[in-house]
Amino acid sequence: MAPKIKLALVGIGAIARSQHLPTLAVSADFSLAATVSNHGCVEGVPNFNDLGALLGSGMEIDAVSFCTPPQGRAAMAQAALEAGRHVMLEKPPDTDVAEVAALARIAEAKGLTLFASWHSREAAGIAPARAWLEGKAVRGVRVIWKEDVRVWHPGQEWIWQPGGLGVFDPGINALSILTRILPGALAVAAASLLIPANRQTPIAASLRLALDGAPIVVAEFDWRQTGPQSWDIAVETDAGPLVLAEGGARLAIAGAPVPIGETNEYAGLYRRFAALIRSCARDVDLVPLQLVGDAFLLARRQRTDAFAH
Ligand code: NAP
Repeated sequence: MAPKIKLALVGIGAIARSQHLPTLAVSADFSLAATVSNHGCVEGVPNFNDLGALLGSGMEIDAVSFCTPPQGRAAMAQAALEAGRHVMLEKPPDTDVAEVAALARIAEAKGLTLFASWHSREAAGIAPARAWLEGKAVRGVRVIWKEDVRVWHPGQEWIWQPGGLGVFDPGINALSILTRILPGALAVAAASLLIPANRQTPIAASLRLALDGAPIVVAEFDWRQTGPQSWDIAVETDAGPLVLAEGGARLAIAGAPVPIGETNEYAGLYRRFAALIRSCARDVDLVPLQLVGDAFLLARRQRTDAFAH
């Protein structure tokens, strides 16, 4: 059995605690060797207040996984790559497509792994949905991604600041699924954003996307949803409908549920990161981030009521 890859986790916030730490605790591929955090720490694991201190410490670290907000992440990832460490980025990989492309070039030149992860692509329904849709004629797609921001992002400020994606922070997960399962290329055809009077990023957004030039994809993102939450994608095809519900954890084809395994997105992500490291490869798909960037470029903007947590 290959020795475990020594990993440092940067940013011990909500997703690090709920997903990364539990996944790493049982990983066959990785051991958590260090954390970088100003507020959190993990019992028995050395913590550093900033990445520079860790990289300058002489500690043996093979890989760094970033769970900080996207703003400023590329600069830290560049420092890790330049110090010879493999890098995994939470979604969205950064606030800037060009910066991540530059990171990929650095990683390639140094023979290191850069993994821009999209956790929603690891949901159990995604691979069978992609396989079934291959070769089908898609007639229409409807995405409903509506959740309560106060439940899922309590107190988080960075999502509302420049470089935060607002409602596209969860919405980009739907785009990462669409770009994985649909048999064709997506482009933004029209967009509208609803932005609270006191914030920089949208609380709701509507997109129309073209699939291979045909504007047949509509997507509604809304952070004001109370009650039942929706993370659903419905695809109409020449062979009947396909529905992915609960962010891809449930799949139905032609009205019948398809038996799929349990969803464990982060186990899948870390298995992929280990495989990439062991084969000296990179996985940097920027299309979901590019689509969000294009939506911001094209969008009609409207102001709405101020938002308070
Ligand atoms: P979070 O709860 O705000 O945690 C982010 C952590 O990053 C903070 O706890 C802090 O860690 C560190 N940090 C460094 N600079 C910061 C800054 N300027 N503002 C705030 N925190 C800063 O965020 P999160 O929900 O974990 O999200 C982190 C990333 O994971 C985002 O890209 C997000 O899209 C992605 N993600 C989140 C979820 C989710 O459900 N929350 C799900 C999937 C993916 P220290 O206190 O340790 O220094």
